[in-house]
Amino acid sequence: MLLVDTHAHLNFAAFDADRETVIENSLAEGIFMINAGANFESSRAAVQIAQKYETGVWAAIGLHPLNLSGQKRISRDLPEDFCEDGFSAEKYFPLAESKKVVAVGEIGLDCYYKPKTNIKIETMKAAQKEALRRQLLFARETDLPAIFHCRMAHQEMIETLKEEFAARGKIAGVLHCFTGGLAELEAYSDLGLHIGLNGIIFKMDLNEAVKKIPQERILLETDCPYLAPPGLAQRNEPKNTMIIAREVAQIRGGAPESLIAAANQNARELFRI
Ligand SMILES: [Zn+2]
Repeated sequence: MLLVDTHAHLNFAAFDADRETVIENSLAEGIFMINAGANFESSRAAVQIAQKYETGVWAAIGLHPLNLSGQKRISRDLPEDFCEDGFSAEKYFPLAESKKVVAVGEIGLDCYYKPKTNIKIETMKAAQKEALRRQLLFARETDLPAIFHCRMAHQEMIETLKEEFAARGKIAGVLHCFTGGLAELEAYSDLGLHIGLNGIIFKMDLNEAVKKIPQERILLETDCPYLAPPGLAQRNEPKNTMIIAREVAQIRGGAPESLIAAANQNARELFRI
């Protein structure tokens, strides 16, 4: 493999019409992938997809904070019944038995879509934190690294992880779709996490932090079908990980080849693939 797209969603409906073609094209170019679940059904789909391929396609399983019942709905291509009342480890354990499952994710906090009253905001945050804590426990019990999602909630994310790691020990993982500055980079690094970079670097100016990420902490990803690099088809796909690699290398002022080699090594080590 040349590179692993460490955060893709070939398990989502956006790829229903041509999923196998997209996966095969990516694999032919040496771009392997981890498809992340966002709830039980999409986690199960990620595992089923991974099982079709001898190598090169893996799965992460987990409940995304916006797929908790009672959260304000988002415009993702997921039906309403994708929501779950909370994270149930019993429900997800059978999925974790597959050797193709290499992480718990994506899990975390998302305060982008805020309800109108303070009470509702607090209820939402409490439910998200509870689901996150349960899934950290699940990651410990299954001995898997975690893929963290965090939007507009860095401070709370860092506090929650600090508390959890102090009480029960660190969990290896990646803060995917990094959107922080130097302070957040330092905090996540102290927590021992890797940093996932994707096409959001074309939309936000993250250069200051991107330059400072230790090379052994960098992971590359697409978050496809979302966050396509500019000038390409709106639907992102794993092979565009190379475009992210070149852009990140340019921001950091190094050769893409050494970044690609390092990111690939980092992914293989973290996810044991
Ligand atoms: Zn994602």
